[in-house]
Order: sequence, then C-alpha cells, then structure tokens
Amino acid sequence: MTCQLGILVGVHRSFPMSCSNQVFDASVKKILVDQFGRSHTDLRISVTDRCNLRCGYCMPLDASFLSQQKLLTYGEIVRCARVVSEMGVQTIRITGGEPLMRPRLFELVGELDRLPNIQEVALTTNGLLLGSQAADLAKSGLSRLNVSLDSLDEGRFEKIARRSGLQQVLEGLEEASRHGFQSIRLNAVSIRGLTEKDIVPLATFCREHAFHLRFIEFMPVDAEGTWSHEDVLTGEEVRQILGKSFGELIQNERSDPGQPSIDYTYADGSGVVGFINPVSQPFCDRCDRLRLTADGQFRNCLFSTTDWDARALLRTGGTDEELQVLLAACVNAKHFSHGIGTESFQRPSRAMYQIGG
Ligand code: SAM
Ligand code: SF4
Repeated sequence: MTCQLGILVGVHRSFPMSCSNQVFDASVKKILVDQFGRSHTDLRISVTDRCNLRCGYCMPLDASFLSQQKLLTYGEIVRCARVVSEMGVQTIRITGGEPLMRPRLFELVGELDRLPNIQEVALTTNGLLLGSQAADLAKSGLSRLNVSLDSLDEGRFEKIARRSGLQQVLEGLEEASRHGFQSIRLNAVSIRGLTEKDIVPLATFCREHAFHLRFIEFMPVDAEGTWSHEDVLTGEEVRQILGKSFGELIQNERSDPGQPSIDYTYADGSGVVGFINPVSQPFCDRCDRLRLTADGQFRNCLFSTTDWDARALLRTGGTDEELQVLLAACVNAKHFSHGIGTESFQRPSRAMYQIGG
C-alpha cells in the first residue's frame, strides 16, 4: 500500500495534511518522534534492488528489478537525506540489493558525508565488488563497513548465495582492511538446518582477523515466502554453539541503546561477537530507524505494509516542507512493534532486496 500523501502534497500544496487519520503541520513537526516517544536518528538508504548474488533468504532466483527510471537519482537521494538530517537523523547506512553495483557509489558516499548534520555514513555489502572500490569509499568518507558473509566454505557459500564468489569476498575484505575504516563487521544470517556448520569457522576467522562478527536471526522477508518460526536459529542457540568451542561468552555493557546488537566478548578476551535477535528478542521499543527504498519510498519499519512516496513528491516539484510533512506522517504511523509471531502479523509484500536490509 502506498500512502497518497506525497502525491496529494505535490498536487494541492495545502496544509495541514492528513494521513492515517492524523493531522500534521509542517511548521511544528520538525523532529522525527513517533507516537511512542521514539526519536529517529538513523536512515537506511537502499540504492538498488539489483544484486550479484541470489541468497535464498532475500531474493528469488528469477528476481525482476526496477527500471532505471524508477530508481532515485543520487541527487534525489541526497535531497531526501538532507531533509531527514534537518529533522534529526544523524547516521546513514547505504544498502540494497547490492549497493556496490550502483556505479560510482563513492560519489554518493561523499555527498552524504558532507551533509552538515550527518555524523556517520556506513555501508552494508556482500563484499564481491569491495576489492576494486574500498579505496575510493574510504577516501569519500565511509566510516563503517558491514560485509555479509554466511560461510567460509565455497560449496556452502554457493548453496546459500546461489552463486559463487567466496574468494572474491575474501579478497575484498583483505583490501578493505588496508584502508583504515573505523570498523569492519561481518554479518551472518542464522537459519536452522542450514548455517550451524558455519558458526565456529566464521568466529575463528573473525577472531584471527579482528573483525567484529554478528549473527542475525532469519526474518520473514524472504522472497519465496517460506519463512517459518522453526527456521529461526536463535541468537541464544548460536551463543551456546560458540560457548562449546570458545568457552562461555561474557556479555558486554550496552554502550549505544539504539544499537540492536547484544555484544559479547570471548572467554579469552580475544574478540567481540554480537547477536541481532529481531525474532526471539525484538528491539522495537528502542528502534530509531527509517528507511528509504531504491524506488523512493519512505518506510517506518522493515515490516511496514505501507510506503510513503517521496519520489512522487520529488518529481512533481514538491518542496522541502512537503517532504517534512510526508516524513512526519510516516513516523507518526509507526507501529509499536513488528508483531512477528502474533496473529495480527502481516508479511510485507516486498522481500528484503526490495526494501534494503
Ligand atoms: N547485498 C548487501 C548484503 O548482502 O550485505 C546489502 C543488502 S542485504 C539485504 C542486507 C543484509 O540483510 C545482509 O546482511 C543480509 O544477510 C540480511 N538479510 C537479507 N535477508 C534476510 C532475512 N530474511 N533475514 C535476516 N537477514 C536478512
Ligand atoms: Fe544480494 Fe545481499 Fe540479498 Fe544476498 S542478502 S541476495 S547479497 S541483497
């Protein structure tokens, strides 16, 4: 479902506007605080839905993609980011699809990094194209890098990603390590019956290379719609598997309340491993995220069933104030929690690659 507010604003230019039975006034709604008091300081921007892998938990094998015309241009993305940053967003993460497939991504990174209110620009990538782009990204101001890697075994990598490329990802990681990013994290999705064998090798690899490893529970945004609760290998189960090999993990104090990861240090003090447990331990109560999809839709939650159409507004001459109204409506409509596991839970119609993880 797309909220028509953007289009209405574009055409009629009248205030206040109403959406989801709420009334907004652009002059007063500058800060992105929702009905439950949550401030929104983090924006995830998807720059493409295309990808050079086909991970089964994210994208169908026969995926069809947005036309170039439907994608926001870099100029449109920067404008959205500037308006959002003037309303309180301080950190941006670029994602996709595979963001490094978008030509000259480093130029977008540089422009976002130069926005006065933006403190940090980060990137989530599958790492396949990192080898040739890490230097430019670092020079452009990218501070944090998350590389998604589920297996260190070529055969298992191919089984999960449904394409080859492990060696290229490892080379990309090696190249990235030379460029002084503030942090390099490895993200691995945990799926019962599929990823158990990869847990200990990934942990060993990350300890050896001083990468921060994070396990993410499998969420119901898979393309084929086959997700079931039983498929979720919980963070707690992964932690127990790690404990058997490395000794009991020691929980760290939470330094950033907005950070969904619960971090632990290995018993020997060598390395940190985090767990993002959206299914078994939802963190909706402290969620500070907004999303902008590659086709220019604001979303207030990964599991939202509504889009707020910024692209229509941008392409019909909408003003910054009208974008603010749209954002205020989006934030105001945010539900208290995603509701996975409850009867009222509705899967989003878009899969992960179409939203941006
Ligand atoms: N292509 C890039 C990558 O793989 O890092 C960026 C986009 S990808 C959608 C972002 C993150 O979402 C990845 O870490 C991926 O593992 C994760 N992801 C995708 N589908 C997921 C799912 N159904 N449940 C949990 N995490 C998922
Ligand atoms: Fe591509 Fe990332 Fe989705 Fe895998 S998780 S298919 S790499 S977008």
